[in-house]
Amino acid sequence: MEESLPELARRAHSPGRERPALHARRVCMRWSPLAVFLVLAAGAADLPAKESPKKALQNAPWNAPARKGLRYLDDHLFRLPEVQGTPRKPFTYAVAGLCYLMAERTVTGRSADRVRRVEEYLTRYIERVEQRVKDPSNLPGRHGMFSSNSLIQYTWPVAMTGMFFGELKARGRSRRAAKMIPRIVALLKDAQHESGGWGHGRVQNQGARGQNKKEKKKPDGGPFAGMKLPVRAGMGGYPPTLIAAANTSAIAMGLLATLPGSNADDSVKRARAYYAKARLDNGSFSYDPSQRSAGFAKTNAGRTAGAIYAMHCLGMARGDGFKKSVRYLMDNFAWIPEGHGSPCLNMMHGALTCHMLGKKEWTRFKKSFGDRLVAAQNDGGCLNCICENKAFGVTCDSKSHFGGIASFANGKKVYTTALHTFVLLLDRGQLKLAERRRPVSATRRRR
Ligand SMILES: [Zn+2]
Repeated sequence: MEESLPELARRAHSPGRERPALHARRVCMRWSPLAVFLVLAAGAADLPAKESPKKALQNAPWNAPARKGLRYLDDHLFRLPEVQGTPRKPFTYAVAGLCYLMAERTVTGRSADRVRRVEEYLTRYIERVEQRVKDPSNLPGRHGMFSSNSLIQYTWPVAMTGMFFGELKARGRSRRAAKMIPRIVALLKDAQHESGGWGHGRVQNQGARGQNKKEKKKPDGGPFAGMKLPVRAGMGGYPPTLIAAANTSAIAMGLLATLPGSNADDSVKRARAYYAKARLDNGSFSYDPSQRSAGFAKTNAGRTAGAIYAMHCLGMARGDGFKKSVRYLMDNFAWIPEGHGSPCLNMMHGALTCHMLGKKEWTRFKKSFGDRLVAAQNDGGCLNCICENKAFGVTCDSKSHFGGIASFANGKKVYTTALHTFVLLLDRGQLKLAERRRPVSATRRRR
């Protein structure tokens, strides 16, 4: 009964033909009674004014691959083993949880149970991080230290967990979310660097504001002169902040700040200052903000997409700087999936940015990457990384860095599938948390 996937993708981009219309109608008929029921159940006020169920289903070509992606998550997410020191599992749970929430209209009944399991796992994860962060001996001695004995790289999963609970709260259906959000905000605040950005997490001897006195050195003349100098990767560490980590945290912080009682406002203010300073002259964002001459790097595209979305979520005005970054992204659009760190995360951020910017940008995103996303899905529903390793510094998410260890390889597949399923589901415009943040024009005074 399922169409072959390349066939679906091909039809999606040939609107002049007769059969796609027939196909769309058939899909509508298959789904509309369910959609109508769910709209009634959810209450019409829950829907954005411009979106009707019918319109959401006009995007039918992404329905099938998204459903397959969800099925793959069903089969594999809850079997992921705990991996000491590697926080990929909670991150993946949080993204998958967002997918289950966004898909509610079509996979209802099944997703409620999935959401509850994700909720329980992530609650325990946050409790664990809270416990460990209290005792400095659990923190790494320097930024970017890899040690399964230390609490490392936790800003990413904590931030994504914030997105998950924020989405639950935005849907008005979780008492637990209301309790979890201020706790998640507190963890991210604690890990925020004095510049307003985020790195992988707090290190030992780092104050509440993120200042590590031991590392404080002479000004280097850069935008963060006087603050601690970045530790180069070759010297066995990471800089105290990274644009990619900052993006993930700032997006969560900025969106959670729209929910009453989140207590995120002061952190949001400091994050705005970070982005205003971190932008390069050509509008792009480099690996870390001290790299002032890195504007040529093609891997900046995906990061810049994340930074644009972060600035939007932080409620920053769309002044010249914002516009310059958008122009850079449009000029370097094809490079979005050629990312460093995690190309699939860049795809998530690219999708969120284009979806937020408008119909033209979102259509361009779908046309540019839709076929490749669907073509990279295997029969089991696994969605793989679509990078082509075209630029210097690209790190493919689907190539295992751990050789033949099955649990790592499986973890990667669930991770890439969760992120790309999110991208496919975003087409339905079902991320309620994101709808709470409206664009701020350059002329309107921000409150
Ligand atoms: Zn790749």
